[in-house]
Amino acid sequence: MSERRKSLELLNSNRRFALFLDRDGVINRRVVGGYVVRPSEFEFLPGVLEAFSIFSKLFYPIIIVTNQQGISKGKMTEEQLTEIHSYMKEEILKAGGEIHAIYHCPHLRSSGSTCRKPRPGMALRARRDFPELNFKHSVMVGDMISDMVFGHNLKMITVLIGNEEFARKYPKLIDYRFNSLIEFSNFLSATIMNHQSEI
Ligand SMILES: [Mg+2]
Repeated sequence: MSERRKSLELLNSNRRFALFLDRDGVINRRVVGGYVVRPSEFEFLPGVLEAFSIFSKLFYPIIIVTNQQGISKGKMTEEQLTEIHSYMKEEILKAGGEIHAIYHCPHLRSSGSTCRKPRPGMALRARRDFPELNFKHSVMVGDMISDMVFGHNLKMITVLIGNEEFARKYPKLIDYRFNSLIEFSNFLSATIMNHQSEI
């Protein structure tokens, strides 16, 4: 029996959904083979700031979950990451959006750390900080299979950004796919927010 795809139509229910987002490749351009180590290297992808202003009307809380093993590799410090995240939050705030929490996992892929996606550690930390969080009423957005496994295992609605090949290869893990965050937010404005205004 095939599992029924989770639908974003659920956002039309009275319940407020939470939004979990990966960072690199979703919010900012990925540095291929390297790391963003200072705010000047943090480049928002087109339309991202506008997308956040739409998200803030629909979701609460809005949470970033990001693997940052560059810290354990000595490529950047915790302080540098904090600086990058302050910059990211400020720019989003200026554009009318909001981020309520950011969790990062500094450990190496090889460490087997429970905070490193696809493992659920960062989501569990979020639930401690936001006791009302219900993962079944959450959406996970990311550009990697590890993001999709993370969301899927927690029974979230999963949204892949980019990579059509992943979407073909792992249809069970991916509920929706869009080319960009702005395409996702435009879909929500068109389908969910229009519907809400009719009620
Ligand atoms: Mg990513």
